[in-house]
Amino acid sequence: PAKPIFAGQLPAGLQTISNIIAVSSCKGGVGKSTVAVNLAYTLADMGARVGIFDADVYGPSLPTMVSPENRILEMNAEKRTIIPTEYMGVKLVSFGFAGQGRAIMRGPMVSGVINQLLTTTEWGELDYLVIDMPPGTGDIQLTLCQVVPLTAAVIVTTPQKLAFIDVAKGVRMFSKLKVPCVAVVENMCHFDADGKRYYPFGRGSGSQVVQQFGIPHLFDLPIQPALSASGDSGMPEVVADPQGEVSRTFQELGVCV
Ligand code: ADP
Repeated sequence: PAKPIFAGQLPAGLQTISNIIAVSSCKGGVGKSTVAVNLAYTLADMGARVGIFDADVYGPSLPTMVSPENRILEMNAEKRTIIPTEYMGVKLVSFGFAGQGRAIMRGPMVSGVINQLLTTTEWGELDYLVIDMPPGTGDIQLTLCQVVPLTAAVIVTTPQKLAFIDVAKGVRMFSKLKVPCVAVVENMCHFDADGKRYYPFGRGSGSQVVQQFGIPHLFDLPIQPALSASGDSGMPEVVADPQGEVSRTFQELGVCV
């Protein structure tokens, strides 16, 4: 296994993790959690030891998207650490598993809770920790990026023009923090019906971002009822249909993180 690259500078809980990947979007509802979860399960399928940290305190999606048997995080009272729950070999931590429902908190408190959940968890040895970032580029995101030395970022967007402007913000945030953006996923880009391909939100904003900011990879993820259904069923699409089109896209994404 790869040697942890951040040992020495990191909070103790993160020292046994080799790569920390942020999956980020600047808006909610573009498919960020869908990408984070499917990417994590693809990496696990490739043989990596993987964890997912759902940093979306206001709207945690992980408890809907995966269905571990144990839905409450356990504490090690002596060491004052959190034991992740697990589903199909992937370690999971989400505020949604903290047993308190949705949070009503102000920004600085949110940052505190996120940092505590992340750094006091006993992740153990991991090749990848995938962080499902809270949407946006505000203080919560910035603080998180400063606490956690990210290896790389994946940005998720939809093809609308407005989304493009927001993505540019996200790319700038990561570049200021010297975190390489390795890929943009343009989600819900098209759907096929009656033998024709439709682009309901227009085309081209993903390739515009990729060109403008020199991001090496662009992936298209079509609108697929199966992807939405699997998001609600508790079994990620790449687990449910490992040979499908969605799985192939995630395998390519997995190779480039
Ligand atoms: P975000 O994390 O950006 O808020 P989610 O990943 O929770 O977004 O996705 C929002 C909703 O859209 C979910 O119900 C999800 O299942 C659905 N969804 C995401 N991507 C697709 C897609 N390509 N095709 C169909 N449904 C999708």
